[in-house]
Amino acid sequence: MSQDFDHIVIGGGISGLGMAHRTVKRGVSTLVLEGTDRVGGCMNSRIFPGCGGFWTEAGSHTCFNSYGHLLDILADLGLMGQLISKGKLRYQLWHNGERKSIFSAVHPLELVFSLPRLFIGGKAGKGVAEVYGAGLGRRNYRDLFGPAFRAVVCQDADDFPADLLFRRKPRRKEIERSFTFPGGLSEIPQAIVCRDALQVRTGQQASRVVREGDGFLVRMADGSALRSSHLTLAVPPNAAAALVPEGLDELRALVAGVGISQIETVVLCVLAQELEHLPPMAGLISIDDAFYSMVSRDYLPDERYRGFAFHFRRGELEAGAQVERICRALGIAETRIAGIAWVANSLPALRAGHQDLVRRIDRSLAGGRLAVTGNWFLGVSIEDCLTRSHQECERLFPD
Ligand SMILES: Cc1cc2nc3c(=O)[nH]c(=O)nc-3n(C[C@H](O)[C@H](O)[C@H](O)COP(=O)(O)OP(=O)(O)OC[C@H]3O[C@@H](n4cnc5c(N)ncnc54)[C@H](O)[C@@H]3O)c2cc1C
Repeated sequence: MSQDFDHIVIGGGISGLGMAHRTVKRGVSTLVLEGTDRVGGCMNSRIFPGCGGFWTEAGSHTCFNSYGHLLDILADLGLMGQLISKGKLRYQLWHNGERKSIFSAVHPLELVFSLPRLFIGGKAGKGVAEVYGAGLGRRNYRDLFGPAFRAVVCQDADDFPADLLFRRKPRRKEIERSFTFPGGLSEIPQAIVCRDALQVRTGQQASRVVREGDGFLVRMADGSALRSSHLTLAVPPNAAAALVPEGLDELRALVAGVGISQIETVVLCVLAQELEHLPPMAGLISIDDAFYSMVSRDYLPDERYRGFAFHFRRGELEAGAQVERICRALGIAETRIAGIAWVANSLPALRAGHQDLVRRIDRSLAGGRLAVTGNWFLGVSIEDCLTRSHQECERLFPD
């Protein structure tokens, strides 16, 4: 059977593009299929029409100098000279309809007496509440750190695997500690797809995969089909479960066991002069409201506008009520909003013991030509995605 490509990647987020970038570098002809009309997935720098090109991140907002695989890709693409250091700003708490400092929620004595417990006992196999509740104190966890972790992963974080929340990675100290790009983080996926040898098709939703001899037949939602000898699934776990080919039933069941947290993100911009009462801030950690967090664009100030992304629990509030909450948090009337958009985001709902599941998934994949990558293996950060893609590239196409 003749193949259309050596390698097809389904999913044009950073996991899929990272995989494709590496395989193309190894001379493997690679096609990326992306279901929506834009690449990047959760890397989504939203431009507001009519606001002079002003953008705000609707998803990921920060990369760090510990993101080694990302830095390698940026170097390949000649982008290292364009990194912009993010301004240092603090998060505040949003509690009882008021902004408060982080320190107002700290119970210092409890923290001092609990802290030694953070460094004994390890994190493997344990949930966030178990590790940090003991290591930071129960009241500190309830009033500050629990909501802060919830804000990071946009879901109840109590059972999230503690060792996957912040994986320690070596820092490259010669590079800005945290950085973005002049046009936001979307510049990264856009630069990856500009590589000549990498083919990308957007608006191409894969609906089914069938094994054909040693390779794969990918059926598209529009009725067309493509063949490849190697295949990478780089989509969220619910989409991946639907695409695992027949005959790999154990793999499909394992993948289907990974949960998803759905997030309704409201991204908006306001004229800076309307917000003189609101000091620049990194964002808000919500203690008791319907949103997990708000992330601002104040780290890269603009002369005219300020931008904000509010990450709401899905289905809890209607759009009008979300806007009302946002206006209360920003202290403005709805008429002051210059641009607004709704974005559906999702993150995997990993649970303590997740690494056992990953080990079983990897055993099912061993020796085959199917790779699976994403933010549901090593952790949810961009670097975790790229590390998984790197490992899968090494397995499918060893040097
Ligand atoms: C609100 C938010 C804030 C975040 N902040 C940060 C941060 O500051 N720093 C950081 O490091 N990480 C952050 N993250 C995490 C990080 O951005 C994501 O984990 C990462 O971008 C996920 O990339 P991915 O490629 O695995 O998945 P996704 O970005 O979800 O990409 C998957 C792609 O697959 C496509 N797809 C799905 N099904 C199909 C199909 N059947 N056919 C074709 N295409 C399909 C989707 O359209 C999508 O484009 C954040 C995430 C969120 C949601």
